[in-house]
Order: sequence, then structure tokens, then C-alpha cells
Amino acid sequence: MTLTGQTEPLEILIVGGGPAGLAAGAEAARQGVPHIVLERGELAQVVVWYQKRKLVMSEPADLPLHQDHPLKFQEGPREAVLQAWTEGTKAAGTNVRTGPANEVLAIEGSKGAFTIQLRVGNRLAARHVILALGQSNLNRFDCPGADLPHVAYQLSDPGEHEDQKIVVVGVGDAGIENALALCNRNEVSIVNSGTEFPRAQARNQDLLYRAIAAKQVLHYTNAQVKRFEERAIIIVTNEGEVRIEADLVICRIGARPPTEFLKRLGITPASKDPNAVPPVSETYESVVPGIYLVGAVIGYPLIKNCLNQGYEAVGTSCASPLNRRTSPSCAACSPTRGSRARWPKISRASNARSPSSLRSPTCSSETSSGRRRSYAPSPVK
Ligand SMILES: Cc1cc2nc3c(=O)[nH]c(=O)nc-3n(C[C@H](O)[C@H](O)[C@H](O)COP(=O)(O)OP(=O)(O)OC[C@H]3O[C@@H](n4cnc5c(N)ncnc54)[C@H](O)[C@@H]3O)c2cc1C
Repeated sequence: MTLTGQTEPLEILIVGGGPAGLAAGAEAARQGVPHIVLERGELAQVVVWYQKRKLVMSEPADLPLHQDHPLKFQEGPREAVLQAWTEGTKAAGTNVRTGPANEVLAIEGSKGAFTIQLRVGNRLAARHVILALGQSNLNRFDCPGADLPHVAYQLSDPGEHEDQKIVVVGVGDAGIENALALCNRNEVSIVNSGTEFPRAQARNQDLLYRAIAAKQVLHYTNAQVKRFEERAIIIVTNEGEVRIEADLVICRIGARPPTEFLKRLGITPASKDPNAVPPVSETYESVVPGIYLVGAVIGYPLIKNCLNQGYEAVGTSCASPLNRRTSPSCAACSPTRGSRARWPKISRASNARSPSSLRSPTCSSETSSGRRRSYAPSPVK
């Protein structure tokens, strides 16, 4: 059965309502392409999960957003970014559905005739699918005590914490930002499996070094988490086992890519490296024709990359020969408004490089093995 009221297959079905998926949806709406964005959480769920009042950075500085991008983005507080995307999504006329019922469980069929199974039991038909799945499955510890109530994986509002002993595990941007937001009013320690902060943005590294030097944050280096106890965390360092008292432990130890979901579609990572991402073509098409991958799921950990890729993928999927042959009503593909005609301009805005080379200097650890970088910290073993 198809979803009530759907008489024609959608031109593009977009899975994931983060920056990449919302950008694809807004661009499809603007081009008059029949589409839908399905998000199992809230609009921009990952950004909703950022700590309140977090400064959302607009990196890399040398990568412009497409000039006519339908979604606005500039550095600012989390709340302003969310408001801009909520308003932008509405203004563009994006057809977006949010909430657990809209989780996509399975995709069957082939290019031009996909059937998409939702959690509620409805099915949708679409000619092309853009997967903007991100990597929102948070890693968790499974050592003893990991389910104690003082062990958390998110920080919602730093303002809610005062005069507490707080330990942050993980030294990527997420962990560093949590520690910095808490250290003025609490006793904060940060647990680092190494000695430096190679995965964090330069700005965050700098701020953390200053906070450590000012003794606002206590830095445990070469440390591994052993277990959690009532109001404590036990780590092992080069000096041996250390017990740190803690009212709260915030573990920011990365997120898993949706590898199993992708494998069921026939899309596998480029290598056996656990951080490997699936390969895509110049047009973001995966090894399954008609299924496109954009954003963090292919290893682009920053919002500007995701916004640009979502926008670009609409152009590339709509410009496909199949679409031109079977969908004369697709406005984006008409000779006058064709996305192909606009494509060279779009490509130049992205430095005319392939998706895998669009990475900025700050997120350039991707290699031919297709390794993924993450905004989240590297796992502490
Ligand atoms: C704490 C933190 C702070 C960050 N700060 C910054 C920053 O300051 N600047 C910056 O540029 N980047 C930042 N990032 C990174 C940025 O958030 C990500 O790069 C970006 O959100 C990735 O966008 P995306 O659209 O690819 O995926 P996501 O934002 O992860 O969106 C994917 C969406 O898909 C949904 N989804 C997944 N599977 C399904 C399914 N089967 N069915 C339906 N929906 C599904 C998820 O619920 C999710 O909402 C930060 C990340 C974190 C964790």
C-alpha cells in the first residue's frame, strides 16, 4: 500500500532532517520538485541536542555556502541557527515530516521505482532517494557502572549545573565545549586518551589550553576509563588507577555511522576501517543507482559541507537521465530551469572538486580508505 493520497511516485525522497537533508528539501521545494523529507526526531535533531546557547561555528572559513542557498547559516547561538532553519524550511515550502513514525526502516526497488517502508507501516514510492542520515547513534560505554544515573552522554543546559564535580570524557569539540561551558561555575575535569586535542577545532583547542592553564579545568592525560562507581569514575593513567569524584560524568565519545542500515541497501563502507564511509560518485550517487548520500554520513563533519551537499544533490539527482526521460513535469529539469544548466556554477562554488575532495583543511583526514571524521571526540577505550 502507498501512503494515502500518493498517486504518483515522489521525484526525491530525503531521509534525515539535519542540515544536509533540510538543504536538499528546501532546494527541491524551490525547484518545484515533488519531494518529502522524513526525520525520525525533531527538525535538525542533532543541533537540538547541542548544549543550550552553544556558539555554532561556521567552519571552514574558506568554504562559501552556495550564493542562492535557500537555507541561511551564519555563526551564532544554537537557538538562532535553529530558528533560521525552521523559518527557512517553512519559507521554502519544504514538505517535511518529523517524529518517530517517520523513521525509514527499509528501502526496496531500484532507480525510478523505490518503495520506502516507514515505522508506522505506511509505504512511499519515490524515483530517487537522498540519504542524509548523519551519524547520530551515540557511542556508549559498556564497562561496569555505565548505567549509573550520573553517567550521561549529552549536556542540555550548562546553566542548570552549579557547584558540582563534573568529569567530561572525550576531547573532541563536543567534550571541549561541554567542559568550557561548565567550568566557570563547577569543578570540571576532562579525561583525554592522549595528551593533545588533535580532533578539535583550533578555536576550541586554544580556549581549552587557556582554561587548563588557568586551572579552571583539570586535565587527565593518557587516560582510559575503567569503570563507574556511585558518584565517581575510575580511570587508568600512566600513574595507575585514579578515582575521580563526580556528581556528573558526561561521555562525549563519538557516534556510530548507520552502517547496518546502509548494508541492508547494498551500500558498504569503502574499507574495513571502522570509521570508513561509503564511496559516492561525483554526483553523490552511491553504488546503488538512484540512491545518493550527503553530509556526515559520507564523512563531512561540518554544517557548511552538509548544507552545500544537500543543495547540490538535488541538482545531480534531478538531472539524471532517468528523471529527464520519465519526469517531464520536474521543473528543475526543464530546459529553461534545468539544474544541469546551473550545475557548472554550483560546481565552481564548491571549487569544482569531487565530493571526496571537497573537504576543507580543517576536516581533511579523509583518505582513499574513505575514513570518516567526526565532530564528536575519538573514543576513549
Ligand atoms: C555537540 C556537537 C557540536 C557541533 N558543533 C558544530 C559546529 O559548531 N559547527 C559545525 O559546522 N558543525 C558542528 N557539529 C557537526 C554538525 O552537527 C554535523 O556535521 C551535522 O549535523 C551533520 O549534518 P547531517 O545533515 O549530515 O546529519 P545530522 O545532522 O546527523 O542529521 C541526520 C538526521 O537523520 C535522522 N535519521 C537518521 N536515520 C534516520 C532514519 N532511518 N529515518 C529517519 N530519520 C533518520 C537523524 O535523526 C538526524 O536528525 C557539531 C556536532 C556535535 C555532535
